[in-house]
Order: sequence, then structure tokens, then C-alpha cells
Amino acid sequence: MKANCWYGKRDMRVVDVPDPTILNRHDAIVKVTSTAICGSELHLYNDFVPTMEQGDIMGHEFMGEIIEVGPAVKDRRVGDRVVVAFPISCGHCFFCKKELYSLCENSNPNAWMAEKLFGHSPAGIYGYSHLTGGFAGGQAEYVRVPFVDVGTVKIETGFTDEQVLFLSDIFPTGYMAAEQCNIQEGDTVAIWGCGPVGQFAIRSAFLLGAERVIAIDRFPERLHMARDGGADTINYEEADGYDLLMQVTGGRGPDSCIDAVGLEAHMPGPLYYYDRLKQAMMSESDRPIALRQAIMACRNGGTVSVPGVYGGMIDKMPMGAVMNKALTIKTGQTHAQHYFKPLLERIGKGEIDPSFVVTHRMKLADAPQGFDIFNRKEDGCIKIVMTP
Ligand SMILES: [Zn+2]
Ligand SMILES: [Zn+2]
Repeated sequence: MKANCWYGKRDMRVVDVPDPTILNRHDAIVKVTSTAICGSELHLYNDFVPTMEQGDIMGHEFMGEIIEVGPAVKDRRVGDRVVVAFPISCGHCFFCKKELYSLCENSNPNAWMAEKLFGHSPAGIYGYSHLTGGFAGGQAEYVRVPFVDVGTVKIETGFTDEQVLFLSDIFPTGYMAAEQCNIQEGDTVAIWGCGPVGQFAIRSAFLLGAERVIAIDRFPERLHMARDGGADTINYEEADGYDLLMQVTGGRGPDSCIDAVGLEAHMPGPLYYYDRLKQAMMSESDRPIALRQAIMACRNGGTVSVPGVYGGMIDKMPMGAVMNKALTIKTGQTHAQHYFKPLLERIGKGEIDPSFVVTHRMKLADAPQGFDIFNRKEDGCIKIVMTP
């Protein structure tokens, strides 16, 4: 089969690889009908995540049809149309039973590696380095799906792929980010980063009752899409985000702040170069620029929610502000499976049509070009969906 594989920094190739086979009794093989490129994969593309190996198959946002099931699979059959959650979760460990699926203790065979680097190992994740298990990803014609009973949602109504595909990651990720803010009537929510997760965080914040959402980015097309979703926007290259947020909240700050940027943040000013320098000297792994500003801007007693990806150590973390402002910080890889049902219901009721985020459609064979366009934020690119 054809698959999009990693060969090094900014080097993706679509090549022929062996078809996947059932390895475990709870596995299924899915014939992929749609797959997307995720912003978090740019960290792999730009070689920020160690333990990638040449030939690793990319992709953790995908859906398709089940064509084969292992002998222990109970609730899925050949022919089922399913969306697959990006974290691989067993469904019966301590954390899975609490529906904290991204913390599954049984799905990452390389947990020891991740523990060394991150301080803790997340669940296995498709196509996301050997730190998270070395699982083959879904930017391929076929993919092996472990624990298919737990890790998939069956699509039984007539939605298009683009309407449900993002249940795999970015919709639940944006939704969980907003849900963690415990939004109350009249609340103002500020969101750093208007990439796909930020876009879903904006819409989710409104679904959960926010009165006002202020979105911060620098790319016009992203700010435009944010405004389409009802947000007010700040271009941080034209105005100081912190000052503006203070102005529009009467000096108090937003009730909650979401960092949907993560470890490769940009910002004008000397602090950015400070972080770049520390990164180059390997004395800091992540640039927490958006996180610092979110903490400083958030009102006293408010919540800072962090769906943005961080992998290691950060510097100049304003812990004094966190403590003295009595902030709550909530974060985590998304427990995507937990959100399958409620979010599919919201799509069914017409409260949201997730396909709004798609700006580019292409063939899987063009994946390397897709990564290039997405990485350079060219051509108004926000979200790419590929079909084999
Ligand atoms: Zn993702
Ligand atoms: Zn588990």
C-alpha cells in the first residue's frame, strides 16, 4: 500500500510499504477514506520530537471502513464506518475506566522512553514517534487500529467524512480545552492560536456558554475564520495582546485563557529571542511564550487551559502570578474517546459543522506538498484533508 512516511527534517515521502496485519486479538484493519494533517505533526516535520525513524508512517487523524477484525473484537464488524481516536487506549485500565483515555497505562510499549523525556508517558498515539509507541499512522491506505472497540466511534448516519473526521482529534481537543475553563454565563474567554484547535476552541467556548471570545494570532486567514466563528480578534503583530485584553476587560483580564499554541510559539520582542537562544543552547526545550502571556492576562481566580503541545522544560514560568492570582491550570492530551458521543450528537443537531475548518483537499500522494504548504502557512492553509 501507499503511505506518507517521515524521512527526516522537512522530508516526507509517499512510498510503498507492506499492508498492516492483525497483531493483537483486539485489533482491526481500517481502509482509510479520509485523513488529515494535524498542527501537532509540524513538531515532527520540523524535527522537534526525538525518536522518529526513517520510514515511520505519519498521521493520527483518520477514518474509514473496517475490513478485518481480530477474534476478541466485540462491538465492531467488517463494513462498519468508523472515526478513530488519536490516543490508543485499552478501555479497562485504571485511567481508561475513569475515561481519562489519553493516560492509558497499557497502550504505549515504549512508556519508559517517554517517562525519561516528558516525566510521564502518555497513551500510545498513531504516527507520533517511538516515544508514543511507534504505531503506524493513518496517512496511508490501510491502518491497524488496536483496541478498536474502545478507540472508534461508529458513524451510522449520512454525514460526510469531513463532517465527522475531526472527532479523531481537533474537535474534542478544542472542546476539552473550552470545557476545562468551566465557562459561566457572561464569561470572556481569550484564546492564543487560531490554528485548527484554536478554531474549535472558539466555537466550543460559545457552545458552552461564553459571552465573548477573543482570539489571538497573526495570520489574516486564521483571524478571518475566527471572526466567522463569532470571536473578536487581535493580531499580535499589530497590537500588544496583553494591553488590549486588559483594555477590553476593564483591567481585570479574561475569565479564562486557552493556550492553543504550544512549544513553537512566536511573538515580537526580546523574550522570543531569549527563548530561541535557550533552545539553541539546549537549556530549554519549549518556548512557552503564549503560556506566559495567558497566565499574566488571566483574571484572578481564573483558569488557564493548555491544549497546546509541550514536551519538556520551560523557562521563566511566572509561578508567582499563578499562585498569587489563584489561577487554575488545566491541561492534558485529549481524552478523545470520552467526547465521541456528545460531540457526534452536537453535529447531528446541527449545532456545529466541523467541515468549516477545511481549506485544502488533496490526494494522499500529495502529502509532502501538503506538509510544506501547511508548515509555511501558505495559500491561506488552515486544514488539509487527504483521500487515498
Ligand atoms: Zn492532532
Ligand atoms: Zn487503558
